[in-house]
Amino acid sequence: MKSVLVVEDEPRVADFLLRGLRGEGYRVSLARDGQQALDATETERFDVILLDVMLPGGPDGREVCQRLRARRDATPVLMLTALDAVEDRVEGLRLGADDYMAKPFSFDELLARIAALLRRAGGASGVVSRLELGDLAFDRDSLVVTRRGRRVELTAKELALLELLLSAPGRVFTRERILSNVWGLSEDPLTNVVDVYIGRLRRKLDLEGPDGPAITTLRGRGYRIELLASPA
Ligand code: CA
Repeated sequence: MKSVLVVEDEPRVADFLLRGLRGEGYRVSLARDGQQALDATETERFDVILLDVMLPGGPDGREVCQRLRARRDATPVLMLTALDAVEDRVEGLRLGADDYMAKPFSFDELLARIAALLRRAGGASGVVSRLELGDLAFDRDSLVVTRRGRRVELTAKELALLELLLSAPGRVFTRERILSNVWGLSEDPLTNVVDVYIGRLRRKLDLEGPDGPAITTLRGRGYRIELLASPA
């Protein structure tokens, strides 16, 4: 079981993170300020640290991160902050954080980023970290998607759907398979959620043909991503 140290002073946010992460099968400890975080990491090893930047009294998140690295503690750190300025992100990464998320964030995205940090730290046992099809690329570690060399922002569910399709270009994925993989649903809730998300991916990434990577609909069977040849 993977362990997560949550460093967060706001009780409501802390409670939300603790319950959510425990529900996902993580062992979770809580530190309510920077000093508690430094003490906890001296006595116990964690797989990931979620570190709020703004902490009361004592060392704040930036300082905790800096001191961990000074101690040669390489535990992956995901910084959480209400500040979303570019300078804060850059500073957080400079101080040794591995990733950075601005509040408010979606829990799905948080889970995806924790999973990415764990994969990276675990030496990605046999997992291919980069998926490519033509000029479409998906980096599973950084969750960055590019089309024609330009970055495209996707939501957590869109990323999960694209990752599934790109895991096997040319293979047909049924709606049921997609629902169970991406949404964790064992039966169709009689909505067109899959079709809606396929449509979003096609628009955002221009996957509509007639050449290059495209998501093709196979009526009554499902979807596949494939590389279409330029028409003569
Ligand atoms: Ca705080």
